[in-house]
Amino acid sequence: MSDTNDPILLACETYRNELIAAGLLVPLGTLGIYGLSGAFEAVVNRLDAYISRMGNHQNAEVIRFPPLFNRAHYLKTDHLQSFPNLMGSVHSFAGNEASHLELVRKKEEGEDWTRDLNMTESMMAPATCYSLYPNVSGTLPEGGRVFDLCGFVFRHEPSLDPARMQTFRMREYVRLGLPEQALGHRDTWLKRAHEMLLSMGLDATIVVANDPFFGRGGRVMAATQREQTLKFELVVPITSTEKPTAVMSSNYHMDHFGHTFKIKTADGQVAHSACMAFGMERITLALFKTHGFNTKHWPKEVCQVLEL
Ligand code: 5GP
Ligand code: ZN
Repeated sequence: MSDTNDPILLACETYRNELIAAGLLVPLGTLGIYGLSGAFEAVVNRLDAYISRMGNHQNAEVIRFPPLFNRAHYLKTDHLQSFPNLMGSVHSFAGNEASHLELVRKKEEGEDWTRDLNMTESMMAPATCYSLYPNVSGTLPEGGRVFDLCGFVFRHEPSLDPARMQTFRMREYVRLGLPEQALGHRDTWLKRAHEMLLSMGLDATIVVANDPFFGRGGRVMAATQREQTLKFELVVPITSTEKPTAVMSSNYHMDHFGHTFKIKTADGQVAHSACMAFGMERITLALFKTHGFNTKHWPKEVCQVLEL
């Protein structure tokens, strides 16, 4: 255990140790990066199917994304300005045989070899819907578009909190279209998502939220985001009841991505977008925390909802 008196940190560590001892999380040597057991994945799969059933009526276009994100697309976003501390940039070796020998020498002698690398064309994906917007530039059909997305994302936030992972799956329902279509999507999904969490026996609450924008300028952006109620989170106690964890979030981006990636509605306006994001690992951790590690002992109603 770490040398701390912080009760929340202690609770995080305790739950993390329990999850590891039960074999649900497999620690891989880096804080916040885990292998996930068959029992863990079985719940993720049932949850995924439940989300699909609840979103089936939308006839959404399905895309599953890899964890890598095009660097040129990344540079069109303001992620580097807003979340520099969370980014992941992929580098590789592009030298010749002589520079390779130098790379190996540096590795063997414990010197910094990373400066000999070149950036590749890829970044790590920061959020699943980021992977969508650059690829839907142009004019939307009448009525806009709805997407069903999922992918592994990366955020550099090493932590002892098992619910703070560096890489995790974000499933999202994204709406592109007129402002009222985006807002309608946000409002309907926020209500439906809350009902879904309650139906899984989770003690969920909707709260106004903000993204962790970097630095002093970031504090202003966070305050504006809250004032405009652009982000809501559904929070559930996992490691703490005083500080419950966001397991789902909704974001209304207004015309931000529409502007950046030149997405237009059928009548030529800049498209608005909204997304509902499901944190697959966090919801699963909340279920294990609330109902115990053995799914055979979970309440009957919860098993029915998840078709477990
Ligand atoms: P957001 O883009 O709103 O920050 O994140 C979307 C969702 O991803 C959150 O509601 C949450 O469920 C999940 N999420 C955010 N950060 C983490 C994290 O550090 N670890 C895990 N496992 N899930 C996260
Ligand atoms: Zn999103």
